[in-house]
Amino acid sequence: MKEITIVGGGLAGLSLGVCLRKQGIPVRLLESGGYPRHRVCGEFIAGVSEETLEYLGIDSFLADAERHDQMSWWMGDACVLSEQTPSVALGISRYLLDQRLAEEFVSLGGELELKVSVKLSDANQEGWVWAAGKNKSATRSNNTWIGLKIHALDVKAEDLRGLAMHSGQKGKKNGYLGLCPIENDRVNCCGLFEVQSDITPSLAMQRWGKLTSSKKVAMLMSYAEACGMTAFLDWLKIHDFDDDSFSAIAGFNLGAQSVDHPFCIGDAAYLIPPFTGNGMSMALESSRIAAVALGRFSIGECDWYEAVRNNSLAAKKFFTKRTTIAKMLHPLFFHPVGQMALKSVASSGFPSFQFLFKLLRTP
Ligand SMILES: Cc1cc2nc3c(=O)[nH]c(=O)nc-3n(C[C@H](O)[C@H](O)[C@H](O)COP(=O)(O)OP(=O)(O)OC[C@H]3O[C@@H](n4cnc5c(N)ncnc54)[C@H](O)[C@@H]3O)c2cc1C
Repeated sequence: MKEITIVGGGLAGLSLGVCLRKQGIPVRLLESGGYPRHRVCGEFIAGVSEETLEYLGIDSFLADAERHDQMSWWMGDACVLSEQTPSVALGISRYLLDQRLAEEFVSLGGELELKVSVKLSDANQEGWVWAAGKNKSATRSNNTWIGLKIHALDVKAEDLRGLAMHSGQKGKKNGYLGLCPIENDRVNCCGLFEVQSDITPSLAMQRWGKLTSSKKVAMLMSYAEACGMTAFLDWLKIHDFDDDSFSAIAGFNLGAQSVDHPFCIGDAAYLIPPFTGNGMSMALESSRIAAVALGRFSIGECDWYEAVRNNSLAAKKFFTKRTTIAKMLHPLFFHPVGQMALKSVASSGFPSFQFLFKLLRTP
């Protein structure tokens, strides 16, 4: 069998590695970081089917995840929606999940090399998959986002029922943030904010890197305050946080990542806006699609050219509906008129949100 090399050990790369190893395919995975580690992510998984998790061989690693079937949506200080999710959402930290998958990959005989940062130009080879996440060298002008994440500690069940989304918009300041209960009575708080106009994303990251823990909470507060997320601020003020869980990212674009590599999976292929999509499910689903094409290539049933072609056609067929709707919907969250329209639809009790949630999370 031909060896497969995966660059990037996030959710996409690790789940692909596990799945290929279960088929007995030799796999090498090159990861620039290590495990366990905190990542900027909302840490709720919704939409991926049981069948996909079983196919990848990772269902047991999610079996003890928190199960959520309630969600609320807050705009400023008003709760505009509170209802059941159309399907159960799973809450689990990336700290735990990625570590579990990495251990499973190694126990299945996968070769894991950590602290190896691969250059894109070196990865364009037969049998190499690019799963290195968001394209950080993106330079388009809409590159204005900063993602911030913290775990709140010892949160009682009555403090937060299910998932809570908060969005805010004040003048040109926009953002949204999700609260998701995860393991050990923790709640993940993860937000995406438009970088305040006086600084660049890289300067925001530099400032973040130099801050002490309490000042990082203050920075998150200042972003939330700037766009008027009043209800979230009230919640934030009465909780304690795990200093080590702070993480931040900036300097990336949403949407197609335009990475110059023929075989990209997960965020490296497409970064769906978090509020309108389910990037983790897409990472897992794209691994499943890739595993089929790579399995055939590895056993010599097709050449690399055909594997690349089959993968991109299958991924396009599977994801286009979702990415197109998300692309149309996302700007509405960041426009005063769009926000008013969404608020009145949500408050009317019309079942369109259940429908949209489903539409954005299924093929
Ligand atoms: C603010 C925010 C909130 C989100 N919330 C949610 C949510 O609640 N639910 C959801 O489903 N999705 C969410 N997402 C999206 C989700 O986090 C991603 O879609 C998912 O992590 C994609 O997995 P991935 O494996 O493709 O990329 P990643 O998880 O980013 O993994 C990429 C890996 O590649 C490694 N790497 C990078 N460059 C190199 C290199 N040159 N060489 C070697 N290794 C390299 C990195 O260290 C990393 O481990 C959110 C995203 C953001 C930004």
